[in-house]
Amino acid sequence: MSLPKEVLVAGGGIVGINCAVELQRRGCSVTLIDPRSPGDGCSFGNAGNVVAGAVVPFSMPGNLLKIPSWVFSPYGPLSISLRHLPRLAPFLLRWLKASHPANVRHISRAMHALHKETFNLYLPLLQELGETDLITKAGQLYVSRHSHGADGTTLSRVLRAEAGVRVEALSGGQVQDLVPALSAAYGSGIFFPDNGFCANPYRLVQVLAHAFVARGGTVRRAALVAVERSPEGGGTAILESGARQRYDALVIAAGVWSRRLVSMFGARVPLEAERGYHITLPQSGVHLNLPVTNCDLSISATSMEMGLRITGGAEFSGLEAKPNWHFADRMLKLGMMTFPGLERSGAKQWVGMRPSLPDGLPVLDRATGDRNVIFAFGNGHYGLTEAPMMARLVTALMMDERPSVDISPYSLSRFNRAQVFPAMHPLTEC
Ligand SMILES: Cc1cc2nc3c(=O)[nH]c(=O)nc-3n(C[C@H](O)[C@H](O)[C@H](O)COP(=O)(O)OP(=O)(O)OC[C@H]3O[C@@H](n4cnc5c(N)ncnc54)[C@H](O)[C@@H]3O)c2cc1C
Repeated sequence: MSLPKEVLVAGGGIVGINCAVELQRRGCSVTLIDPRSPGDGCSFGNAGNVVAGAVVPFSMPGNLLKIPSWVFSPYGPLSISLRHLPRLAPFLLRWLKASHPANVRHISRAMHALHKETFNLYLPLLQELGETDLITKAGQLYVSRHSHGADGTTLSRVLRAEAGVRVEALSGGQVQDLVPALSAAYGSGIFFPDNGFCANPYRLVQVLAHAFVARGGTVRRAALVAVERSPEGGGTAILESGARQRYDALVIAAGVWSRRLVSMFGARVPLEAERGYHITLPQSGVHLNLPVTNCDLSISATSMEMGLRITGGAEFSGLEAKPNWHFADRMLKLGMMTFPGLERSGAKQWVGMRPSLPDGLPVLDRATGDRNVIFAFGNGHYGLTEAPMMARLVTALMMDERPSVDISPYSLSRFNRAQVFPAMHPLTEC
């Protein structure tokens, strides 16, 4: 099969830029288009956790019963806009269906396939670019005030064991030794030695974009709005400015905005904007050697180049709703409950839209009837972790090679299949 010569990647988030870099590495001439600067979407402000060992889906048995406390408790992590609820209902039903134990196991295996090689893919590339401090395999800590509160359910433990994820249970003393800034109330924890973090997720995208351009790639400020298919293969992208750009192959990697783009190819996906918030404290007075997830409060804290970042929240209010900054204020309060000495001056708030699908897995598939168009989006809570593997798999599809992992769990057609009916679990994976 001949190599597609001109590849157009729509979307310059962490997924799109990884695809652009990898396709370029394999000999394609690549143009990346984005109406904003690469990394300005959801990839800008995430928690930076690089989680090779995340294998516990967000939809787990028992979740349904937890929804009221997530929504109504004063510091609950979940918010659903009543106005958006009718549109969200089918998503929620699919989310519940995903929590059936048989589905959970299948989803967990598919997560592991995307996560387990993340450091092996990122680190050599960053080393090549002289960026040895951007991603560090420093481990990750989950903490709770309750004995075994960070361990998760029996099923979570089984899923980790089945995937061979290394986990160490820690005593209160060990937790405090590892993170002295933590409130003494957190007396139980688990440590994931094979996870780690990115010190600046936005700079990561920018570093990759600069390398891509330096190696001959093109980044163009433009939004894809339509396509014209060409009978001899490939097509022409119509950009918002009215400009036209010919392509042999097209990758749709536009995060939460992909839903509208894939509808141009007749595809319907239950993709939702799942908002998350962060607060970054430049002079927090707290430095963490590894990222910390507070399982009781559903927040994550990571020391970054910009200061201490505290993230959390899952807000479903549609693509166009205004941010609810109370959520970001809440991140600060929850951060102060976790790290009592936190200094708040110069705090910066941010909101981003996770591109979420109800089973927590992305879409990685060809457009029906057009094998030169590849969909790569919907990475929800794990886009930073999954992006390099997504790029490998997109490239394999493009080259007509056998993908290194089974990609059927990420197919578009899974949304047309009947699923086994369910039960439920929490928003953090603990
Ligand atoms: C609070 C929070 C914490 C998170 N923490 C983590 C974490 O610790 N670890 C982890 O792995 N993941 C985490 N995530 C998830 C991760 O950030 C996302 O999954 C990831 O950023 C999605 O990347 P993306 O490239 O698909 O989308 P985006 O980064 O949103 O990029 C999509 C791009 O497409 C562009 N676009 C839109 N429309 C068009 C168009 N018509 N034509 C061309 N381009 C277009 C946009 O401008 C945007 O730049 C977190 C997310 C949030 C919100």
